[in-house]
Amino acid sequence: MWRDLARIGRHPGTGGYRRYAWTAADADCRAWFAEQARHRGLGYEADRNGNQWAWLGDPAAGDAVVTGSHLDSVPDGGAFDGPLGVVSAFAALDELRARGARPRRPLAVVNFGDEEGARFGLSCVGSRLTAGQLAPDAARGLRDADGVTLARAMERAGHDPEAIGPDPERLARIGAFVELHIEQGRNLALHGTPRGSGSGPGRSGGRAAAGTPVGVASAIWPHGRWRFDFHGEANHAGTTALADRRDPMLTYASTVLAAREQARLTGALATFGKVTVEPGGVNAIASLVRGWLDSRAPDEPALATVVSAVERAAAESGERDGVGVRVTRESFTPVVEFEHALRDDLAKMLGGAPVLPTGAGHDAGILSGAVPAAMMFVRNPTGVSHSPAEQAAEDDCLAGVTALADVLEGMACH
Ligand SMILES: [Zn+2]
Repeated sequence: MWRDLARIGRHPGTGGYRRYAWTAADADCRAWFAEQARHRGLGYEADRNGNQWAWLGDPAAGDAVVTGSHLDSVPDGGAFDGPLGVVSAFAALDELRARGARPRRPLAVVNFGDEEGARFGLSCVGSRLTAGQLAPDAARGLRDADGVTLARAMERAGHDPEAIGPDPERLARIGAFVELHIEQGRNLALHGTPRGSGSGPGRSGGRAAAGTPVGVASAIWPHGRWRFDFHGEANHAGTTALADRRDPMLTYASTVLAAREQARLTGALATFGKVTVEPGGVNAIASLVRGWLDSRAPDEPALATVVSAVERAAAESGERDGVGVRVTRESFTPVVEFEHALRDDLAKMLGGAPVLPTGAGHDAGILSGAVPAAMMFVRNPTGVSHSPAEQAAEDDCLAGVTALADVLEGMACH
């Protein structure tokens, strides 16, 4: 399976994957999924929102155990974020068949469309639409960097954009959803070792020095995006005395440092990863600096605390620099607590696997509002994700398949 997937959408220069929704690379991934279903004799369907399903057993029977993830990628993404969950799902079904297991509940593998939002700027479009968390009109109107709407892109790829929308009947078939995913972080790699002991596992080799290969997710941290507008005054970099400047770049710089400091103090994460400058001349003091803050924390009060502290620091610096500061919240996703009973069952079936939170959003988080959902993570030795350097050891991937097969067997066959 990896050999077939490896060449799809891979950029020859960076070695990273560019599998964006409703592009040729996406179509190739989808054709791959349909072929995997076909050659296993599974019932295949593509739903109204562009998600793909492969069924073992009768979907109409209800109470299905569904597993899978996504095949699309961020710009220059790694090989595992998404595909590991889909490949492992098919491999786990193969493993169940090899064990001679007899499922009493229908099983399905799913590929959720447009999870990363790399092209249209909104993540988890396929699962949000299905769960009724995204209005069809709003989805159809999303635009990519070339101004192409999602509706037009769907049409070009042969999918009817008028068909998209909530799909309660499909959701009603699902008794539980379990998403396996590569960990985006090093909690599993460092599990059982004191933090910062410097004994983390190396980059290569199937056997890591420490840690554990598979874990279960407890929760997805609440997260959001805030736009900071710093309004100053454009002027000549060579003739304006320091005392006469209203330089928004200074206020922006102090705010970046404040975000780092507040995150450190509160155990949260706060990142300025995108900035625009107007007019953007080397020899001009800027008139406007716009920076986007991404912040995540273990709970919502902690998130509110860190963001308001950063806002306060920005306002104070702005006063000192003669710069106006305006903050706009652009998005917010509340905390997702995965269902405790299912999560605890999984940990037990996996012989007491560690239960860990994550800062990254997933389809399982979207679905958790509608059906019992859970996640399993496979060890990431470097913690790197959303990068061509993302990796997982083959032994750990195989441990993930065995663990997923154990879970499916425990849930559907006993
Ligand atoms: Zn993912």
